[in-house]
Amino acid sequence: MHDSTPGPWAIEADNLWKRYRRRWALQECSFRLPAGRVCAMVGPNGAGKSTFLGIAARLIQPSTGTLKLGGVPVDDPTVLTRVAYLAQDKPLYPRFTVAETLRLGRELNPRWDQALAERIVRSGDVPLAARVGTLSGGQRTRVAFALAFGKRPELLLLDEPMSDLDPLARDELSGLLLAEAAEHGTTVLMSSHMLSEVEEMCDHLLVLAGGRLRMAGPTDALVPAHTLVTGRAVDGRVPRELAERHTLVESRVSGRQFSAMIRTDGPLADRPEAAPDAPWDAMTPSLEEILLACMRSPDAPALIVDEARKETAA
Ligand code: ADP
Repeated sequence: MHDSTPGPWAIEADNLWKRYRRRWALQECSFRLPAGRVCAMVGPNGAGKSTFLGIAARLIQPSTGTLKLGGVPVDDPTVLTRVAYLAQDKPLYPRFTVAETLRLGRELNPRWDQALAERIVRSGDVPLAARVGTLSGGQRTRVAFALAFGKRPELLLLDEPMSDLDPLARDELSGLLLAEAAEHGTTVLMSSHMLSEVEEMCDHLLVLAGGRLRMAGPTDALVPAHTLVTGRAVDGRVPRELAERHTLVESRVSGRQFSAMIRTDGPLADRPEAAPDAPWDAMTPSLEEILLACMRSPDAPALIVDEARKETAA
């Protein structure tokens, strides 16, 4: 029996690079993710999200760098039973019944939890005798979740799990995902384009753009690190006092007004830019506003908070 206790770090990426012919899909990717988090991986199309998930699922070989899952190198055979991966198209056999699909899960996975898998399927009123090909998108996703959770993974990798679902099914299945992950202490890493879903579901974030990590850390550390400042532009620009004193993630001037997403330390109320007599307004942005600003400005300095920082091996 191997030790199934998850280590403190579910994922440790150390200077991962992946090249496809002449293009880098992933560059200099280093971070660590504590176990037990629900983490979103966010970024525009082509950012490298699927490439990273593919490396973690052992489907893609990195060009250089190392990746550890639960403290074990990703190419160690024990990783196979500890990690579940759900691809974007949720490949299932359409001619199999739901019961046959779960039986396949049972036969392929030594740690299989049949009761858990059946409970997930039944709580959505999915008939065990129905053929997978006849199910709705939401029902198929439920069966795919049952297969993934039935494996009792320590780490669940999901590539845009909710993208093809209607809002009702999305709401239901995100609730299911969070409840199961909390009950079993599963670490979840999911890529998503839906920023409101990310804000609701995830307590940790990884933002990729152009194959590089732009932001990483717990949301409750990332959000207070940003301030949204709006006010009157000076000579058609963001006032110099702001631009020089803080990291400007993004700024826009429209007519006489400017708006700027800045990074700064300490609670908003204590910061000079939020002083009551300041010639602009300062507010805490939503996570969605921060993510949009970060993705629109791939050249802004990266923000990797200490907890997520993986010092690269010399
Ligand atoms: P995302 O999931 O964020 O949309 P991907 O990881 O799919 O991004 O892709 C990152 C980059 O790598 C893109 O430029 C994409 O075109 C390229 N890429 C992905 N897979 C392949 C492949 N098999 N062959 C060549 N280029 C690829």
